[in-house]
Amino acid sequence: MDDAAYFRALPKAELHLHLDGSVRPATVLDLATADGVPVPTTNLKRLRAHLEATDETPSLTAYIAFFELPIAVMQTVPALERVTYELCQDLAADGVRYAEIRYAPWLHVHRGLSLADVIRATLDGLRAGQAETGLAGGLIITALRTMPPDHNVTLAQAAGGFVGEGVVGFDLAGDEAGHPPGTHEDAFRAARSLGLNLTIHAGEGAGPESVRQAIALGAMRIGHGVRARQDPEVLEMARENGVEFDMAPTSNVQTKAVPRLEDHPLLEYLRAGIKVTISTDSRTVSRTTLTNEYLKVATMLGASRADLWAMNLQAVEGAFAEPALKSRLRQEFSEAEARLAASKKARR
Ligand SMILES: [Zn+2]
Repeated sequence: MDDAAYFRALPKAELHLHLDGSVRPATVLDLATADGVPVPTTNLKRLRAHLEATDETPSLTAYIAFFELPIAVMQTVPALERVTYELCQDLAADGVRYAEIRYAPWLHVHRGLSLADVIRATLDGLRAGQAETGLAGGLIITALRTMPPDHNVTLAQAAGGFVGEGVVGFDLAGDEAGHPPGTHEDAFRAARSLGLNLTIHAGEGAGPESVRQAIALGAMRIGHGVRARQDPEVLEMARENGVEFDMAPTSNVQTKAVPRLEDHPLLEYLRAGIKVTISTDSRTVSRTTLTNEYLKVATMLGASRADLWAMNLQAVEGAFAEPALKSRLRQEFSEAEARLAASKKARR
């Protein structure tokens, strides 16, 4: 069995995945047509250029611009349900068995939906997708750095109303430069008091200080954290506190968190005893799958199957899930891995 088939067949957990960055291009076109949202072209092939970043994308801000069109078509209950449901199907086809899907509800209220309407619609889509595919996991509600702090407190309160119904975490994302995480301390305090797990995007568009602040705010998982390596003290702080970095190699090159994939610190962190996991970040914007990310890490960074397996298990450990679910996933993953390893083709 070659690596591509092996990594696809391996049951995987994905912790860092943006809903609005993972909408099927055909669905964007479909929803735009149905809801009268202007699109730059109705040619699906050409539309992809407006939805997919490349290695030539110059920055995090430029990367974020690729989310505008999908967000414009995700403004109604049926649209939000549909894209969440379809993402579950795409995850299942990629061998993902546990996924935490995130998005920023404040970006989906432009046609009159309330924050609660938005969250309920995505939860309904998630439940339908999970029922069909057997996928496990939940939603992470993302606050935006560029939003006024009181808006993010309101968002944390709205998200807190869905704890126990599928909302498992609270996140901060958006343009990092000039928007330190500490500005949103009140929102994070509110989220934590309502029982939400905390994760923060940091060390992607800004340096190690952003990661230090995110850890100080109580984030046990950092989105990316690529630039943390510029400060050994911050890395040591992460290692000591058991903070996990959920990284996305293709996206990290596209946002210029690293200049080239070969410079990615994933394995350096792994060898240094820091908790790391692999995700896609955005399946459409980064035009990738988790299988593809595993393959890239194997072929371009030289990770062994054992390394990838360790990071996959770490994703289960770091999941915002109940211990019973984690132990069920560990068992299911291990049994499948053993079957794959024992198959004749794998020994070839
Ligand atoms: Zn992200």
